[in-house]
Amino acid sequence: MLILSGKEVSKKIKEELKKEIDSYLAQGLRKPGLTVILVGNDPASQIYVRRKRETAENIGINSICVTLPQNTTEEELVETIKRFNEDENIDGILVQLPLPSHINTHRIIETIRPDKDVDGFHPENVGRLATGIGRGIIPCTPLGIWLMLKHYDIDVFGKDVVVVGASNIVGKPMSLVFLKDERATVTVCHKNTKDLSFHTKKADILVVAVGKPNLITADMVKEGVVVIDVGINRLESGKIVGDVDFENVKEKSYAITPVPGGVGPMTVVSLLVNTLHLYRLRHGFPPHPFAQI
Ligand code: NAP
Repeated sequence: MLILSGKEVSKKIKEELKKEIDSYLAQGLRKPGLTVILVGNDPASQIYVRRKRETAENIGINSICVTLPQNTTEEELVETIKRFNEDENIDGILVQLPLPSHINTHRIIETIRPDKDVDGFHPENVGRLATGIGRGIIPCTPLGIWLMLKHYDIDVFGKDVVVVGASNIVGKPMSLVFLKDERATVTVCHKNTKDLSFHTKKADILVVAVGKPNLITADMVKEGVVVIDVGINRLESGKIVGDVDFENVKEKSYAITPVPGGVGPMTVVSLLVNTLHLYRLRHGFPPHPFAQI
């Protein structure tokens, strides 16, 4: 059984990205620029933002973190985004989700310029991914999972892929990544799925992104499955676990991601990949090979 280590794969990718940035700086070009905007003081979001910012800085990306108070109005947030939309030194803008409930998330996502939409959530980028028309931005978690599967030579062609969870951030774009060029037969399950294990048992590759510990147990998977556990759940004990009963499911798996150390680091490194991708396009360079699926 293979443990898919996002920690190790992301480390290798970061080294390559750092070398690439060093080469741009040696040519006299500016650093890539990333703005991360956080509204409010949700502790988990604060940790994610800090991690993203530090990792970006470590490889040579100029990362600006804007922290706005919980009572920031929608207009104030829109104006902040517009300022960075016009900033020539900024290649990517990320607004950490979830936003406080008085702010319309859809409007905020649409305010970010599509060519600075480093998270790939703008409908223009989602549409490009869905249709294959033009060059879009792949959302970070699906891109990270894709890069990890490629790293471990896990072929998806013709496979039965089951994605559990249908969010705009993970489940839906993940299904589009697997469906691109008719690579795989994709089933998407969600909270109204009648018989979840009927579907999960068919999976050659199972991606779970729900946010419920132990949602997937060993009796729900077939022998030889590849399991990608996206879930992050903090138990009362403080332990972080995914959505999959790792200890028992791993016995039946060909490969499985741990939590932590699996999908999480790949999501963060994909943010850096997307930042560099946007930087390259802005400078008239070819798209970043890691940002292509
Ligand atoms: P989300 O927006 O809450 O979406 C969860 C999805 O699962 C929704 O489609 C939901 O349906 C569906 N669902 C709920 N109960 C279900 C059930 N019993 N069976 C099947 N589907 C069910 O969450 P998200 O943003 O996609 O994140 C999912 C999990 O991944 C969370 O634990 C999050 O922390 C984690 N995450 C990890 C990373 C990483 O880098 N590792 C990145 C992003 C997210 P409804 O919307 O209809 O309720």
